[in-house]
Amino acid sequence: MAKPKYKRILLKISGEVLMGSEPFGIDLKTVGRMADEVIACADAGAEVALVIGGGNIFRGLAGAAKGMDRVSADHMGIMATVMNGLAMQGVLNSKGVDARMLSAIAMPSVCETYSAAKGIHHLEKGRVVICAAGTGLPFFTTDTGAALRAAELKCDALLKGTSVDGVYSADPKKDPKAKRFDKITFNNILAKDLRIMDPAAIALARDNGIPVVVFSIREAGNVEQVLKGSGQFTLVTKD
Ligand code: UDP
Repeated sequence: MAKPKYKRILLKISGEVLMGSEPFGIDLKTVGRMADEVIACADAGAEVALVIGGGNIFRGLAGAAKGMDRVSADHMGIMATVMNGLAMQGVLNSKGVDARMLSAIAMPSVCETYSAAKGIHHLEKGRVVICAAGTGLPFFTTDTGAALRAAELKCDALLKGTSVDGVYSADPKKDPKAKRFDKITFNNILAKDLRIMDPAAIALARDNGIPVVVFSIREAGNVEQVLKGSGQFTLVTKD
């Protein structure tokens, strides 16, 4: 069996993926499927840290567009990532996996507060680490949180699971002529303004030399394939 290409990974799962075929919220069957993907990576020998978005429940920008104060709206989005993290932690635990959620915002009766040292400690013990609450700050996204945690936890790669199978020159759902890249540089993504992750996340990954692998997380088994360097994905690197 092929060995993992990366020893320690940060897997980013967007909140929307957790909706499954539902229009909103957390579909526990889909969380179970995502947990199986994580377990397959751990079984293959990888150390796995997770960042889960909150877009299936609440996005700060949507609240602000309806007149809410942006900071409060972003705090609500941050709480949504905590709800998703708790769902994932519970499902992983029920499958016999030791998973620890660490929150960027202190909530001691719910979980441990995030620190890089604690995260690395749990990873070294073979536990799955769920980094909840994004960066803990409004005006950021969980993509930026994922790049930040990948750097802090000394991950070998950031695996960005989305609903498309890589980075395209335009939105493939809107433009049939959109070209898919097997490989692209961080600077090219920024120069072409390709919105696969927000620019702050791209710059953070670039400046810390963390390769980003963009792939579709909707098909079962894809995370483990990407971990081993096979399957369909776009690799984003410095040059
Ligand atoms: N959020 C934030 N700071 C962070 C991470 C997230 O304010 O560091 C808020 C923001 O309002 C965002 C929401 O949480 O819209 C959900 O996160 P995101 O949109 O990144 O989730 P995803 O699109 O990955 O599901």
